[in-house]
Amino acid sequence: FGVSNKISASKPVNTLFSTAEKEAETYEFTSDVGRVMDLIINSLYSDKDIFLRELVSNAADACDKKRFLSITDEADVETPEIKIRANMEDNTLTIEDSGVGMTKDELKNNLGKIAQSGTRAFVDALGDGNADVNLIGQFGVGFYSAYLVADKVTVITKSMQDASKAYRWESEADSSYTISEASADDIEGTSGTKLILHLKDDAPAYLEATKIEELLQRYSEFIEFPISVWKENT
Ligand code: ADP
Ligand code: MG
Repeated sequence: FGVSNKISASKPVNTLFSTAEKEAETYEFTSDVGRVMDLIINSLYSDKDIFLRELVSNAADACDKKRFLSITDEADVETPEIKIRANMEDNTLTIEDSGVGMTKDELKNNLGKIAQSGTRAFVDALGDGNADVNLIGQFGVGFYSAYLVADKVTVITKSMQDASKAYRWESEADSSYTISEASADDIEGTSGTKLILHLKDDAPAYLEATKIEELLQRYSEFIEFPISVWKENT
């Protein structure tokens, strides 16, 4: 993966005002999400680094789904890719993929509840005092590891199924999240997802390209899509 110091020509990730944007709707997380988030934050704080592996693996899954669905669609033949951008000024780390994206319903189902089967077992496994970071991936709760390093996460996403609409999901890991409409141009290309991590005060190391690359080398060696690391506002 190459590091680029170029300031990206794309629009800033935090487009505050967009004509397409409507008022945000607030939704409650199901109670198991709260429990899983608490467990992750309280038992895995010494393994914060794993958030990147989990989020890059989600980005790669999304790229894989897009590649699969694009086989019959000749209009979209570009290889999906993953971009990681560190923004010093905003203290944000953005993991961006040009994968399948999510519809509004998928946002609610995937990032608001937990696939029921795994939760109980995850809570039991982590709760017995032997916190194992690998459990997080096994039980399908990797997304919530973002809250190991971020106090707020913003997800901007546009689904392949409905490329005219983009949505913004946001949560500070309390009991609720919001969804609002974003502008379809907030995502370049036909579909994809941007995960903006508003880093905690004790997590500035994750803005360093060398740190990000070290983690990618350690945990994400076998990702089969291009990954690039960008620095903005340096
Ligand atoms: P898992 O990856 O094991 O299913 P996660 O908690 O990591 O569990 O992610 C939950 C779900 O959220 C994923 O299954 C996927 O449907 C959705 N998701 C997460 N990240 C992305 C992304 N970058 N693009 C599209 N969908 C995503
Ligand atoms: Mg995952």
